Amino acid sequence: MTVIAAATPVLPAVHEFLARTASLLIDGEWVQAASGRTFGTVDPATGNTLTEVAHGEAVDIDSAVRAARKAFDTGPWPSMKPNERERLLWRVGDVLSERAEEFGQLESLDNGKSAAIATAVDVAWSADVFRYYAGWATKIEGSTINVSMPFAPGGRFHAYTLREPVGVCGLIVPWNFPLLMAAWKLAPALAAGNTVILKPAEQTPLTALLLGEVFQEAGFPPGVVNIVTGFGDAGAALSGHHDVDKIAFTGSTEVGKKIVDAAKGNLKKVSLELGGKSANVVFADADFDSAVAGSVTAWMFNHGQCCVAGTRLLVDERIFDDFTAAVAETASKVKIGPGLDPTTELGPLISQDQFDKVDRYLREGLADGARALTGGKRWGDSGFFIEPTVFVDVKPEFSIVREEIFGPVVAAMPFDGESGAVAAANDSIYGLAAGIWTKDISKAHRTAQQLKAGSVWINQYNGFDTAMPFGGYKQSGWGRELGQSAIDLYTQIKAVNVAL
Ligand code: NAP
Ligand code: MG
Repeated sequence: MTVIAAATPVLPAVHEFLARTASLLIDGEWVQAASGRTFGTVDPATGNTLTEVAHGEAVDIDSAVRAARKAFDTGPWPSMKPNERERLLWRVGDVLSERAEEFGQLESLDNGKSAAIATAVDVAWSADVFRYYAGWATKIEGSTINVSMPFAPGGRFHAYTLREPVGVCGLIVPWNFPLLMAAWKLAPALAAGNTVILKPAEQTPLTALLLGEVFQEAGFPPGVVNIVTGFGDAGAALSGHHDVDKIAFTGSTEVGKKIVDAAKGNLKKVSLELGGKSANVVFADADFDSAVAGSVTAWMFNHGQCCVAGTRLLVDERIFDDFTAAVAETASKVKIGPGLDPTTELGPLISQDQFDKVDRYLREGLADGARALTGGKRWGDSGFFIEPTVFVDVKPEFSIVREEIFGPVVAAMPFDGESGAVAAANDSIYGLAAGIWTKDISKAHRTAQQLKAGSVWINQYNGFDTAMPFGGYKQSGWGRELGQSAIDLYTQIKAVNVAL
């Protein structure tokens, strides 16, 4: 049953997509799960089922891996010229741009985020990612090395490296940026000449499946891109599969550790983009208004369901009360509603489970003695909405300070001086991102050098770019996605030495 609660009309193309039975993409064909089973995917603004998708399991993962292996070893993919891969990837980027609104609405319905933001950010950036890596396909190079060869005095040699694809890659993505996280992995993996199996999150399989249709239409050979929708057991089967050469994962730190265990069997390569509890540091000399606006975006963007969310707001004690009051006031004015309402600024959380988890943290924070300057409870009485919440009077040991909540909740703490800010910011098992707000350029760079985080944003937050590497220190992950770094993730180096 397709039930859509929407303020703006849903495009006919989205209705048509939802009416198609969504199946698995294996070896260039759309097929049902071997078991014939399906599962419903839900609109978080209403709790209603949008459509049924195939329930892929280990046996389907195995079929997809065999297809990807064949396509990598003997299909047309390995013999295709880099500029042919470039043209295919560029085509995917163009189609995403042409059909941005359709992808944006579908993402909004499946995930709950604003359709306008999904179109302008998730889809537009995904298109950019495909074009950026389309360009890389023709620029992957080895090097020549002037060797000394001390064990072969008098000999003459020609030594060089080849940068080759890793092979069959399993890409496991979460529900917070379903299309974008898939794009971050698919585009560099394919540019480098790998074949892939994509496992979307159970909550948000739809844009991945629509993207699968785009890959088909663009002319990717069978088996190069396979998509298996399903649950954690499908992800586990992919991570443990002995014919998979690499897993690229974005999601929770807990599942990241399971993937490391599962990967041991054949020592497949693993890259991980995991959780965070990022610090956003506001010095007293910051531009007050832009720091307030930026600090709210830092923890509220995507309803707080961002791995980089700046959920530990560290504020110079001299401005703490004024600053947190202004943050709370801004947050309390945010317009809450369903994603297809163009005026919505804060949508629902992804699922009942996530709603229950965030609600548990709110109650735990209050029981520990934190005070909510605004929010602290659910919004409305249907859908998975939580009021934006600003906690003060928090202690470093509170769970709302230490653990990733993944909802629109921030814990604000005062600090004393630069060293106090750095110590508080680094007091976390995570190290994904950090923000710094100050007009003092030296202090900004000095602080950036001392923060243990993979990304540092100064006088802004979420300062991402496709060309900039992204990933985590500490338990926030292994490796760097985006930029040239992602090409490193999806290639391996062969050293060749010729005796002349
Ligand atoms: P998750 O469990 O880590 O899920 C991420 C992906 O891994 C999904 O595709 C998931 O499939 C799959 N998966 C689950 N168990 C697996 C296993 N044993 N082996 C291989 N793959 C497996 O994340 P979640 O449950 O959706 O969210 C839980 C928490 O993770 C959130 O509250 C948040 O704190 C964090 N999170 C972080 C990020 C991030 O970007 N860093 C993103 C999302 C969530 P299923 O969807 O079928 O379970
Ligand atoms: Mg859904």
